[in-house]
Amino acid sequence: MERKTNKIKRIRGYALVMVFAGLIIMYLGVFFRETPWLFGLFILAGFIPLGFSVIIYFWVGMVSTRIITVECPNCERPTKFLGRVDYCYFCKEPLTIDKELEGEEFNLDYNVQHRRDAFVARKKQKEDQ
Ligand SMILES: [Zn+2]
Repeated sequence: MERKTNKIKRIRGYALVMVFAGLIIMYLGVFFRETPWLFGLFILAGFIPLGFSVIIYFWVGMVSTRIITVECPNCERPTKFLGRVDYCYFCKEPLTIDKELEGEEFNLDYNVQHRRDAFVARKKQKEDQ
């Protein structure tokens, strides 16, 4: 799967895929409506991805309190930003709000706290030499 997309866009994409997966599974159950237990099984199985999508949407709602809006320097449109590094919602420009990571090679690993700290420590070490 293409990872070069804005995080919020990607999470919403996953949730949408789950909704469709659930509906498709339930729809397939219609072919077995002569067999009630099999039909029921498909309906139940369809609820699993639907449940996941609800959890994802709920989680997006939770993290959206941590979302900040920044103006993209490339396309000058306000883009929703999550974490330390993310791609622009519109033009996929890699962006960072972390001063230490400015001008560095883009890597989504920097959203992981200990990897980011390790990177900054290594960079500081290099500068001291
Ligand atoms: Zn942009």
